[in-house]
Amino acid sequence: MRAILFSLALCLMTTSTQACAASPTRLVIHGGAGTIDRARLSAEREAEYTAALAIALAAGHAVLERGGSSVDAVIAAIIVMEDSPLFNAGRGAVFNHDGRNEHDASIMDGATRSAGAVAAVGVIRNPIRAAEAVMRHSAHVMLGGAGAEAFAREQGLEIVDPAWFRTEERWRQLQKAIAAQRIVRDHDAQPESAYRDDDKRGTVGAVALDRHGNLAAGTSTGGLTNKRYGRIGDSPVIGAGTWADNRSVAVSATGTGEMFIRSAASHTVAELVRLAGKTPADAADATRPGGGARGGEGGRGGPGPRGN
Ligand code: ASP
Repeated sequence: MRAILFSLALCLMTTSTQACAASPTRLVIHGGAGTIDRARLSAEREAEYTAALAIALAAGHAVLERGGSSVDAVIAAIIVMEDSPLFNAGRGAVFNHDGRNEHDASIMDGATRSAGAVAAVGVIRNPIRAAEAVMRHSAHVMLGGAGAEAFAREQGLEIVDPAWFRTEERWRQLQKAIAAQRIVRDHDAQPESAYRDDDKRGTVGAVALDRHGNLAAGTSTGGLTNKRYGRIGDSPVIGAGTWADNRSVAVSATGTGEMFIRSAASHTVAELVRLAGKTPADAADATRPGGGARGGEGGRGGPGPRGN
């Protein structure tokens, strides 16, 4: 569990037939990535994260176990994390420079390669639901801002007062970031800097394989603390933050979004598996979103609990 919360940056899974024969469904979730200073994380805090992740995992597994689709499993898991104040998604999302929560989310169905995304939305309780609605009920792939919110209303999705997303801790993090004049990935740990964030809690994501052999991936985030000018990260960008293709893998990324966009990270990983025959781990290493001259940070995590 700890590996998922603290280390996972690219969640990868394969459609290997041997793996499927042993256990026909798979679900991997993440709650962000970053370097954790163990001394700064209390046992109580760690237990809270572990419990929240376990609930999310159980919600997704329940869908898969009753024969539901990988898309529905991914959504079920992500909704739990969006509703938890512990993660940088939905309730508990980081604040932008103007003191508002702006959420990005996306979902992709590996069977059809259909996809949906919303960007910079502020009143939709579960942005991943809005991404799903875009995928299923619109002619588009990505909707942004007020238009996306109008669409969500039309679709009957739950609309909330922006105060729903606010946590005092995130507000304090914004004040610190403003004071330090920093735009901060919420799990940044930069000891060399005067700025230090107290927590490493991130973007959320899930990838799943259902018993019909279909893959799906989804990602949801509040983005970066103190982001400005309508900044949108990789999480709603299909091919950067999220990708799923039954011919290869399902990927949900977390890290410095600009790097993932520039390297089309999730799509690149999948295509290295599909076309170059790399293992998912090697493909993720080869993609190295943070390895370029422009810096940034991203990583790759391993399997989660339940042997996934
Ligand atoms: N990738 C996200 C973004 O850039 C941030 C994160 O994963 O923590 O918006």
